[in-house]
Amino acid sequence: MIAKDVIIVGGGAAGFFAAINIAEQNPNLKVAILERAKEGLAKVKVSGGGRCNVTHAEFMPSELVQNYPRGEKELLGPFHQFMTGDTIEWFEKRGVALKIEDDGRMFPVSNSSQTIIDCFLNEAEKHQVDIYYNHPVKTIEAQNEQFVVTTSETTFSAKKIMIATGSNPKIWKLLESLGHRVSQPVPSLFTFNIKDERIQDIPGVVALNVEVQVLGTNLWSEGPLLITHWGMSAPSILKLSAFGALELAKRDYKFQIEVNFIKQGFEDCLDVLKSLKQDLAKKTVFKSTQFDLPKRLWHKLVLASKMTETTRWADLNKSQLEGLASQLTTAVFNVDGKSTFKDEFVTAGGVSLKEVNFKTFESKLVKNLYFAGEVLNIDAVTGGFNFQNAWTGAFIAAQHMSK
Ligand SMILES: Cc1cc2nc3c(=O)[nH]c(=O)nc-3n(C[C@H](O)[C@H](O)[C@H](O)COP(=O)(O)OP(=O)(O)OC[C@H]3O[C@@H](n4cnc5c(N)ncnc54)[C@H](O)[C@@H]3O)c2cc1C
Repeated sequence: MIAKDVIIVGGGAAGFFAAINIAEQNPNLKVAILERAKEGLAKVKVSGGGRCNVTHAEFMPSELVQNYPRGEKELLGPFHQFMTGDTIEWFEKRGVALKIEDDGRMFPVSNSSQTIIDCFLNEAEKHQVDIYYNHPVKTIEAQNEQFVVTTSETTFSAKKIMIATGSNPKIWKLLESLGHRVSQPVPSLFTFNIKDERIQDIPGVVALNVEVQVLGTNLWSEGPLLITHWGMSAPSILKLSAFGALELAKRDYKFQIEVNFIKQGFEDCLDVLKSLKQDLAKKTVFKSTQFDLPKRLWHKLVLASKMTETTRWADLNKSQLEGLASQLTTAVFNVDGKSTFKDEFVTAGGVSLKEVNFKTFESKLVKNLYFAGEVLNIDAVTGGFNFQNAWTGAFIAAQHMSK
């Protein structure tokens, strides 16, 4: 049996961040990471399209938490202890400068996730963290104030243990055997599959600011909408997929959405169209794009309103005007299925948040057992927020585990 003071199960984002901070804060402790794969940090490597979207330039805890469909309430306190600004400082102190992009996402200046990986590997070596690769953890038992952890290779013991295994169903089963409840995992952050003439053959078209509602629910969002080969994507859709992860799973990803492409009420839009009927009387509706919409989308919505390419504004009857107003403000689409967003599969589900003390990230049920990252029932919309959850939990837990 190999004796350690602290064992971190999982050499991913949260695991490395925790191990480094523990070893740095208390150099007397023997800290080990047990990682099942032959290398760690696999998700960091592929994250952000290989650039690693480390965090987000949002510096108010009360605003930051709003990006977490699960974890909003629980992360507010932790973010007052360690959040985005601390993340930036942590990396800068260790030689990794971050930059902000226009939409608030933050990346290493190098534009390479390898910079983050190199930083973690160097820091782990500097602070003598032992990393055991090819060590999938099979069992964890609490015995006489010690944890006994067996991997496929050997057995370890430690006084304190952190589970940072991300979304691994086997570890969730194991935690259930220790008495923890686990919310059943369902996908989050996905795009909607839609087959509809109105969006066919126009992939790449973006409506910059739309409102989307899932009919028959309270789910609502706004932001850019991207038309793809298979349906719809971009923040307005991804936010709905994250906040509606459980509800949409229950509906087996078959539901209707109503899109307001111009963020105006139906009546206001109708008034504008009536004025255009006067002002542009001799022009064709098809060719006179309005409301700053992309031309190709305007064409589709016009044709869906019982008009042809040659219909002139002056010729529009009441039903055509109303038809166009409703395509612009209350267009209903049938969603049938989902697709992965840039392979960024995030899971809603994990260790029940009621059973974790968010001042320390320690289990309320098993003393000296800590959690950080996606193993918890916390997940966020896209933009660097998922990693921020991992950094915050790992840092706070490290402060307590290093004592
Ligand atoms: C393609 C992709 C791109 C992403 N891009 C971003 C992004 O740019 N920004 C962002 O904020 N989020 C992003 N995410 C989400 C982000 O990667 C995760 O939220 C984050 O990695 C969670 O960190 P973690 O440490 O909890 O889990 P992970 O990073 O998944 O690490 C868990 C580790 O535990 C190990 N493990 C599992 N089971 C065992 C076991 N039994 N024994 C030993 N080890 C085990 C795994 O091998 C893994 O190394 C992305 C996700 C994906 C899939």
